[in-house]
Parts: sequence; structure tokens; C-alpha cells
Amino acid sequence: MDGTGGTDGVDGTDGVDVTDERGAGAAEAVAARRDAAVAAAVAQGLLSPDRPLVGLLDVTGIRASAAALHAAFAGVVTPGTPVLHAFAVKATPLVPAVRLLHAEGLGAEVASPGELALARAAGVPPEATVLDSPAKTPAELREALALGIAVNADNPQELARVDALLASPGAPAVLRAPVGIRVNPQVGGGSIGALSTATATSKFGVALRDEGARAWVVRAYAERPWLTRLHTHTGSQGIPLALMVRGVAETYALAEEINARAGRRQVDTLDIGGGLPVDFSSDTDRPTFAQYARALRAAVPGLFDGRYGLVTEFGRSLLARHGTVVARVEYTKRAGGRPVAVTHAGVQIATRTVYAPDAWPLRIAAYDAEGRPKAGPRVVQDVAGPACFAGDLLAEARALPPLEPGDHVAALDTGAYFFAHHYGYNSLPRPGIHGFAPDGTGGVVFATVRDAQTVKSIVAESGGAHAAGLTTLPPGTRR
Ligand SMILES: *Cc1c(COP(=O)(O)O)cnc(C)c1O
Repeated sequence: MDGTGGTDGVDGTDGVDVTDERGAGAAEAVAARRDAAVAAAVAQGLLSPDRPLVGLLDVTGIRASAAALHAAFAGVVTPGTPVLHAFAVKATPLVPAVRLLHAEGLGAEVASPGELALARAAGVPPEATVLDSPAKTPAELREALALGIAVNADNPQELARVDALLASPGAPAVLRAPVGIRVNPQVGGGSIGALSTATATSKFGVALRDEGARAWVVRAYAERPWLTRLHTHTGSQGIPLALMVRGVAETYALAEEINARAGRRQVDTLDIGGGLPVDFSSDTDRPTFAQYARALRAAVPGLFDGRYGLVTEFGRSLLARHGTVVARVEYTKRAGGRPVAVTHAGVQIATRTVYAPDAWPLRIAAYDAEGRPKAGPRVVQDVAGPACFAGDLLAEARALPPLEPGDHVAALDTGAYFFAHHYGYNSLPRPGIHGFAPDGTGGVVFATVRDAQTVKSIVAESGGAHAAGLTTLPPGTRR
């Protein structure tokens, strides 16, 4: 996978204080916490023959990532600059996870009524919430503006809707909500097309390099003194750091142009989006938040001189590392000479990996029946899921210690966009999710994040209350 090493043009520590970065040994600590949690999950019955699949969240690691993000930007901004780190709820839409991050000083970036409701249930206040969806309905816009939630308009039609709402009879006299426009600097894509949002034809934002677009944006601000923010998000996994920096630099230049035209600091806040890639091949964070912040400061120093407030919207880089899916091996077999372990983790919790294995390879760790790391000579084998289609493989031809029924496999780095993003194939249930932390006496303590879905709930969500709905319709005439 070439999308994860995107540290172009960014060197290591270059004399900058690195106390905000994970020191040597952090990767080992991540693995040690994970191993302890898997063993404890088995010992405490979170995993059993009847509960063959579970998601685990490393609370210590999540807190450490939140602290690293704060430290990274605190290290480059002028003191006193308002900075809101809004967690992209899309990455891990779990109320307790959003609450934990809020307790660590983060806000929330939301992109649907569901995500907004999750953020509110987690206790994130309007002033720490940002709404970014590309398809906001009039009702969503009205609610956000009334609550005072920051809105980034995606396109001219959406801005016209905001105009209409502000002119409507019930509109508040003073607009409390900061409003901005999302722009697409069209700086290009990364290694994963589906996650590259700044290509020439991306569906997001106002495409700045299209004919007349930049002039339209500048005019839109000139005509609306209440437009005070500018937003960009260059893409997610697979975008090289240098490209992310370029996208922010273009957006900053546009803010300067708007403000020069206005003769005042009309744009007072730049929302630079998220998108820091995650290294799915190791336990080491590469690039780090601090490297990104320093690369931004080197390329766009004006962004940090105190004239602009900042909003960030990181998702994957905060949570991916801290999630682990653990599944029991139900059966093992051989096919065409290759050993296959049939497990309970497949397309329902690793949808992207199963359908696009080259773009989303996952590390797999092998554990024995007690949840202890498995040793032994490595054997090339497939790790299959429980779904009824041939491509349901977590890993193909992977060298792992030989797996046996009753063992466990763990899919690592699945805390964002994986096990919280259930895919209902084969009516497989959503697994329970538990957060874990050291209990202070050498053990591990768990807290429920989400209960496992019951079969009863699957029936209810599958129209169980309307069982006779179709057979009671008039039969019509058969020809
Ligand atoms: C998805 C998304 C994010 C978060 O992206 P990550 O790669 O998870 O950091 C932030 N902002 C917007 C607008 C997004 O669509």
C-alpha cells in the first residue's frame, strides 16, 4: 500500500520540541496493551463460543492521541489563537467515544442528522460542533443555524438556502452560527480515488479552479458580511502530506484575498479539515500530528500568526490505531492446498478490506484459545469471514502461526471506519464494543461502548413488525 507513507518533504524532528510525540517504545506499549486486552476479554467472557466477535477500544491510546493533537497545534500557533479540534464523528460514530474525546477537549464535526444527534447525546455543545454534509436539507440548515452550530456551505445552491433562511420571518435577528463555504482547491488526488476530495471533479465544495468559481466565492463573501469562515478538506487515507499542505495553503491564500477585498478580517477562522493518513502496516504513528503541524507552519506561516482561528476535523488518525476486532476461529480447513481459517470477522466489520483488499490491507494477529499471542512457525493461510460469498476474506495468503478451532484472530487498527461501520450482509449482528484501560493492579477493566445486536433486533430492523405487509396487498391480475 503506497498511501500510508505520505511524509513527503517532512523530515523528522529538526530541532523542534518533540515531547508531544510518542517516544520510543510507544509502539511496544500499544501492542502490550492490546495483547493484555485480548487475554482479559477471553478471561472475562466478552469473547466466548457464544460471543465469537467483539470490538475493543484502547482508552489510554485514544487519550494519548487527543493529547498529541492538542500539543502539535499548541506548538505552532501564536498563544491565544482559538483552536477547535472537531473530531470527525463519521470515523467512529459511537457516543461514548465522542464523549471521551470531548472530555479530552475536542469538539465534533458532523455530516448528517444522525451524527449531529450522536454528538449532542455525547454532550458536545453547539459552539464545539461543525456541520459539513454535502446534502443538507432545509430543516437541517434551520436547526443548525438556530442552535448556533457552525455550518460550511458546500455549494452556491446551499448558500442560497442559507440566504433564504436568514431572510425568513422566523429568523433570529442575530446570526449566532458561524457560516463558511467549503472550497475544493483542486490540488489533486492521492492513492485511493474514492477518498480523494480535492480532485478536479470531486463532488465536494466549490471547485476553485473552475472558470469563474474563485470570483464567485470572493463576491459571495463581499455580499454577505456574515460569512466568516472558509473550509477545505483535501481528502482522507492515501493523501500525501505535501498535498494536504498545498490544499490548506490555497485556502489560506483565498482567505487573504477575500479579506483584502473586504478591507477587514471578514474571514476570521480557517477550517482545514482532517485527513491525516494512518500507517496500517505498523503500530507507529507516521506521519504524526506534530509533523503535519510543522509542515503547515513551514508552508503557510500566516495561518499561525494569530489572525485566524483554526478548526481541524481529524477522524481516522485519532481513532484507527486504538480499535481491535477479535474473532474466534470456528473451523479450519484446506482448499487447493491452502489452509483456511473460518472466523467470525469478515465483510460485516471490515467492508472496505473485503471489497478492496489492495487499498485496505489490515494487519492480523493470531491468539490462542486463552487469548495469548500465538507462536510457532508461520504458515501461509487465508483468514476468512462468516459471510456466504467467496470474497469474504480478512486476509489472503497471510503468513501466520497455524490457526486451530478455538483460537482467535485480531484485525488491528480497526477503530475508525471498520467495526463501527457495520454492513448487514447475511443479517450478521453488530458485535458488542468495549473500551478498556489498565485497572491499576496489573489487570484490565472494560466498559461497554455498545451492546451486541440481538437476533430479535435484527428481525425488528428487517420489517418484523410488518410481516404481513406484502401478502395483504391486492393480488392484481396475473397475465
Ligand atoms: C471524512 C471527513 C473528515 C475526516 O477525515 P479523516 O480522514 O478521518 O481524518 C473531516 N472532514 C470532512 C469534511 C470529512 O468528510
